[in-house]
Amino acid sequence: MKASKLRTAIIFLSLAGFICPAQSVVTSTTKQIPASSQTREILGLKLRPEILAIVKEIETKTRKSISARFDDQPEFQIGASYIDEESGRAIITLDTRLEDDPKKLEAVLTHELLHLRLTVNGYPSFIWSPTVRTAKGMAIDVEQSNINDLRSIIEHRVFRVDMIKFDLYRYIDLAGVTLADARQRKGDEAGQADVINMVRAILEYADQNDIAAVRKSFNTNGWQSTVKEADDIAAIIDRTPIITPKDQETVFLRCIAKLYPVPKANWAFTLKLDPANKYYRRLILNFGRVAKK
Ligand SMILES: [Zn+2]
Repeated sequence: MKASKLRTAIIFLSLAGFICPAQSVVTSTTKQIPASSQTREILGLKLRPEILAIVKEIETKTRKSISARFDDQPEFQIGASYIDEESGRAIITLDTRLEDDPKKLEAVLTHELLHLRLTVNGYPSFIWSPTVRTAKGMAIDVEQSNINDLRSIIEHRVFRVDMIKFDLYRYIDLAGVTLADARQRKGDEAGQADVINMVRAILEYADQNDIAAVRKSFNTNGWQSTVKEADDIAAIIDRTPIITPKDQETVFLRCIAKLYPVPKANWAFTLKLDPANKYYRRLILNFGRVAKK
């Protein structure tokens, strides 16, 4: 769970061939985790039955208990979750400041569990192909955080119903610091991270006035095209039903095509399963010439 951060624009310099064919991945199992107790604590928090059910689903599918701990987080981040690539275990780290705030702790913990539930059900993560380069370096080095953030925003849309059902928005302010940052950067060029921040504002800020303030600040900075791209991307995410992992892939690719306009009509972004990753579905994002239809 992240607020916002900023980077500058990138330009794609070159591209190269295709990656190896995909192989199958472990996506689920029916093996039960022992100790099927109906009560359970994580980080001192007694879990509500409906949240415990999510924990059990994740642990059944990973065949391992979830590891949760308090840890210092990067700036603007209060929690993170992932499936460990080596062990296949679901890992959650939460900001140490949540330790004394049980309501917010429950909200952020549940938010991360909702992300993990998608992951164990085959909703993919995305990684830049090492063949994609930008003016500032390899995309995997300089642009990975943008596609991570885009994935998060799409997933938030997928489980928005659950966030409302569990009344989690009340304890989590997703608004972040985009406005203050934009005000400081008048005269700067906007980048893909700014587009992402605007998308996040449109889709996640609870107060319409906050969205309007960010929009105004971006326009004042001369970032009209950034606002336009963000409106287009937000509309794709908001208006496309995402029922399956495949739907998420489709929406992700449509957003990427807006976020990184390709230089020629016969070039496009593609996704392929990462054969090196066996515990969850990770798709490699590549960029290249496509066959004419
Ligand atoms: Zn999140």
